[in-house]
Amino acid sequence: MAFEEIIGQERLVDNLKKIIRSSEISHAYLIDGLKGVGKKQFAISLSKAILCLNTSRESIGSDNCTSCKKFKDNNHPEFHLIEQDGSIKIEEIREIQKNIHIKPYEGNKKVYVILNGDKMTVQAQNALLKTLEEPPGHSTIIITTNNLKALLPTIISRCQLLKLRPQGVERVANYLVEKLGINQEEARVTATFSNGLIETAKNIYYSEEFKRRRFKVIDIAEKLLSTNTMNILNEIEFFNAEKDDIEEIIDLFIYWYRDILIYKETQEDSLIINYDQYIKIQNQNKIIEFAKLRKAIMILEEKKQQIRGNVNYLLAIESMLLNLQDLFNNN
Ligand SMILES: [Zn+2]
Repeated sequence: MAFEEIIGQERLVDNLKKIIRSSEISHAYLIDGLKGVGKKQFAISLSKAILCLNTSRESIGSDNCTSCKKFKDNNHPEFHLIEQDGSIKIEEIREIQKNIHIKPYEGNKKVYVILNGDKMTVQAQNALLKTLEEPPGHSTIIITTNNLKALLPTIISRCQLLKLRPQGVERVANYLVEKLGINQEEARVTATFSNGLIETAKNIYYSEEFKRRRFKVIDIAEKLLSTNTMNILNEIEFFNAEKDDIEEIIDLFIYWYRDILIYKETQEDSLIINYDQYIKIQNQNKIIEFAKLRKAIMILEEKKQQIRGNVNYLLAIESMLLNLQDLFNNN
């Protein structure tokens, strides 16, 4: 992706383009932003722009220079990406240090991207610090993080900090429609659930799991309106399987009841998150009273807190479901 195609960070991109054009590129950048805001994409596009050989031109990093072509083919010898599932150990940093002092083969720049730099062990950070203190002139190190607190203050102070801002629901929805060809309705639902974060939105859109969970939650919400207790207790199996992501599941319930509440107050379809389910929302709005919706959200928030603590998970889930069922079926 070319640098200027990054959405939602226009000012930052403009500033960086000026800096690249004037050859005043910093030796180290620290990209900070929420999970899902697009830090990896930003770091990669910035790397491409730094390595671009046509930096005097308006469209840095999207030119057909030999550097950009190689970059696009994942074949640029001076671009190094460190991406680890677990912690980033000192050995990885030593590899960078061995390589960084060798002059670039191509062009005059070398770029190293360390994704999720907060996963560096303290030893790894201390090792990196030495390189940040005396960086070779041709190198730029780009670190991404969503957890600045996990980085040594000395690392942070040696880097230029770039803060990425959430794109917002509307921009994300437009992007999904224009670039991915998603229909308006699904784009809106996806963008809202992403909290206006572009990469989260893409993940949600491509995630069968998210769709499955969401429809399961809507299905259970429907069952909670009947007095059939067995029907509800049978759903415990689903919650057991989703234990690791229970907060996300409970949030889906909260969104559901919040939607009914909003619809009750405004009679506006356009304000609800589960936009594609507005007929069900309208129906449940007729059945559930205002006070009960608020109480339901309270129960869910409470259970979320409890589960975070050290309670018996399945007992907490069982009481959550039975409390909700009881609430909706009794006066
Ligand atoms: Zn180029």
